Amino acid sequence: MTAELLESARALGPRIVSDRRTIHSHPEMAYDEEQTSTLVQARLRDLGIPFRAGLAKTGVVAQIKGELGEGPCVLLRADMDALPIEERSGVAFASEIPGVMHACGHDAHTAMLLGAAQLLLERRSQFAGTVKLMFQPAEEGGAGAARMIEDGVLSGPPVDAAFMLHVRPELEAGQVSYGAGPILAGADAFSITVEGRGGHAARPHQAVDPVVVGAQIVNAIQTLVAREVDPTVPAVVTLGSFNAGNRSNVIADRAVLKGTIRAFDDGLFTHLEQRLRDIVTGVASALRATANVEFEMRYPPAVCDPAMAELLGESARGLLGSDAVFTSRPQMGAEDFAFVLQKVPGAMLWLGVKSPEWAEPKPLHTATFDIDESALPIGSSALVGVAIDYLNRS
Ligand SMILES: [Zn+2]
Ligand SMILES: [Zn+2]
Repeated sequence: MTAELLESARALGPRIVSDRRTIHSHPEMAYDEEQTSTLVQARLRDLGIPFRAGLAKTGVVAQIKGELGEGPCVLLRADMDALPIEERSGVAFASEIPGVMHACGHDAHTAMLLGAAQLLLERRSQFAGTVKLMFQPAEEGGAGAARMIEDGVLSGPPVDAAFMLHVRPELEAGQVSYGAGPILAGADAFSITVEGRGGHAARPHQAVDPVVVGAQIVNAIQTLVAREVDPTVPAVVTLGSFNAGNRSNVIADRAVLKGTIRAFDDGLFTHLEQRLRDIVTGVASALRATANVEFEMRYPPAVCDPAMAELLGESARGLLGSDAVFTSRPQMGAEDFAFVLQKVPGAMLWLGVKSPEWAEPKPLHTATFDIDESALPIGSSALVGVAIDYLNRS
């Protein structure tokens, strides 16, 4: 089946590429994926695949039943949202929306799952049970997967196993990798507000400068991982944004800092959250300001079931040959598929999208991010392969 599957996926390649480019040029942010959702629904309708729309606002779930009778249900997932980044990739089909870009490859994920839908439909005589296709909003910080679970994506019929893939620009197109156990960290987004007292730049003694207080907080937070976490245990605290004031000669009255904590262990998260609060309020009060910390959202670590990871790896080896399939080490990135993995066993595949022609790396979440589109049919066939292998395993 595998050589034939890859061949059919390659024949479908131009369609997958054109869907990806359409979505790429019209990127939409979390919970705003109306056009993308409409495109997904139109494709499913054309194929005659039944679906339900409006889960988690823009999410879509479709079902393909095998012709070999009743059986388990396996879910394949794609995410649809883009990022607030101004695209500088230089591609002809670049974003037409200022300040918004598909810089995490979710355009490719959606197009590949649509390709997989067609391939599965053509192979219904080869499996029993059901394949569910989950097109979700808001992976980037909005926990779209959690909301789709609330809206019933894992029931009717109940899902027994789940798989996804994510593009990986460090890995060559044609290669994939996978891992068992905790492979992506949990992520905890937080926001610090420092309240000082604004004033004239020439009269700092009459003000409480929140920029100076914020700067001390930035430094003090660096001790959290360096001095309070066991060096053999992975953890990251990063501040991605620091905003205060807008004039050179005015002392601002407030600073807002936003950041993220990454770790694998629940107890460590709780410790870092508490210590972050202690440091922020302690530094602020020592410097005559006040500050508070709000934790906005915690993604759990993504934990791949060892048996499902092995099935995924075995399926990929069958498709691409063992030389092209690697095992991956855990990463500190986060993924809201972790919410699905808390409910059902599953695994994720890293899909190589690096082109041999690139002189520079094109990392995820950057303005120059890009993919080698020859990987798209490989992604579609890897999803189809693992779904059928799961349903047909004895
Ligand atoms: Zn991302
Ligand atoms: Zn992503």
